[in-house]
Amino acid sequence: MSFSDLGLAEPLVRALEAKGYSEPTPIQRDSIPTLLEGRDLLGIAQTGTGKTAAFVLPSIQRLVAANKRVLPTHVRMLVLAPTRELAGQIADNARGYGKFSKLTVATVFGGTSINKNRQDVARGVDILVATPGRLIDLVEQGFVNLSMIEILVLDEADQMLDLGFIHALKRIVKMLPRKRQTLFFSATMPPSIRELADKFLTDPATVSVVPASTTAERVDQYVTFVNQTEKQALLTLVLQDPAIDRALVFTRTKHGADRVVKLLAGNGIAANAIHGNKSQGQRERALGEFKDGKVRILVATDIAARGIDVSGVSHVVNFELPNVPEQYVHRIGRTARAGNSGIAIAFCADDERPYLKDIEKLTRQKVAVRPLPDQFTAKAEAIKTARVKAIGADPAPRVDLPRQRQIPKPRATHAPTSTRDYANASRNRRGGGGGGGGGGGGRGRGRGGQGRGGAGAGTGASR
Ligand code: AMP
Repeated sequence: MSFSDLGLAEPLVRALEAKGYSEPTPIQRDSIPTLLEGRDLLGIAQTGTGKTAAFVLPSIQRLVAANKRVLPTHVRMLVLAPTRELAGQIADNARGYGKFSKLTVATVFGGTSINKNRQDVARGVDILVATPGRLIDLVEQGFVNLSMIEILVLDEADQMLDLGFIHALKRIVKMLPRKRQTLFFSATMPPSIRELADKFLTDPATVSVVPASTTAERVDQYVTFVNQTEKQALLTLVLQDPAIDRALVFTRTKHGADRVVKLLAGNGIAANAIHGNKSQGQRERALGEFKDGKVRILVATDIAARGIDVSGVSHVVNFELPNVPEQYVHRIGRTARAGNSGIAIAFCADDERPYLKDIEKLTRQKVAVRPLPDQFTAKAEAIKTARVKAIGADPAPRVDLPRQRQIPKPRATHAPTSTRDYANASRNRRGGGGGGGGGGGGRGRGRGGQGRGGAGAGTGASR
């Protein structure tokens, strides 16, 4: 099936050809015809499925066909996204797909100059991609008017709720005309999201990406048991693996991310951090250097990494395990993009063992144990000595555990070992290639979504 079979106009098909997309992904196949009809849509899908094109392409076509002139400060299509990175990526996609149309695209999100935002929207824009907080500021100050909206898209609704945007969303939706097309995307559909969707959508079609080969299954996963205070030594050794093309290192906190970058710099390993305390410019630079391979290590917090679409991440290192098991699935999904396989390594201190248990329960997989590397003891000693010597040295990284967690009794750190090692795994991966669905389709998550052994990915559309 081709993009033109879905009813997309020739200029859009041309833009897709320029991007090298030959075939629609399952979510594109199922949602584009419905959206071209002007129906509301409830999409259950996460980043990596091709959902951005699924909502941007038909929207561009409808905006062009309606041929309305946008008035100063007004907007015709509003896309709300939880993070700046995701908003930036959606806008980039919209510009790419719409390059043969005359539609204007702008972004507004926190961390950038509000004056610049004002200028960008002053003449009105066809497609505005925004994070909710900054948009409300601009509306309240009279710089953006939402009364002409024809299409509303809520992307990653579950993340928006997690980030506390619920009131902002409700306020924004109240400002919009009742007669509009609404698209609602979420990776998960717990009752709170379902309720919100019911409120915002009118008789929607539902499209849901069914995971046949889940992220968790396409990633070789390992865990190494290590004392919290010795994780730094382990990290420097792990990152010296020549099999690493690009590694994304996850910490739970912003300070943790900064500490890791500092430590790596002290050991001659270049890395950048990306998290909420960084300016927009710093975040963009860090992401850019990672994307183009200048700096191969990016240290990130969960929120900052959400929605980041970087291909070629060979390794994900969980420097600290997430206390929410779904975050682990999101994290390791940063590798193994577009049907490739990848390697995920978790560092687990004694007090993180309950998190590991939760993760294994969710993914229904046992994570293979990887022993500490040979040079580990010497490296750990060297780092300890350097720390003691250094005046005003940083303390060892802390783990911020939620209070309600029971901390188990300490057990031996040097846990059972496995004969597999990372390098072997990398070689196997390269030699054998990864299974799983291709073309960016069929990424799934969540407790119910860990189906096994299916072939390819599919979606089900219902009305
Ligand atoms: P998304 O889920 O929107 O974040 O998209 C995931 C990745 O798939 C992005 O890099 C897109 O550019 C890419 N992509 C989207 N549609 C297609 C397609 N039909 N064929 C190949 N790649 C695609």
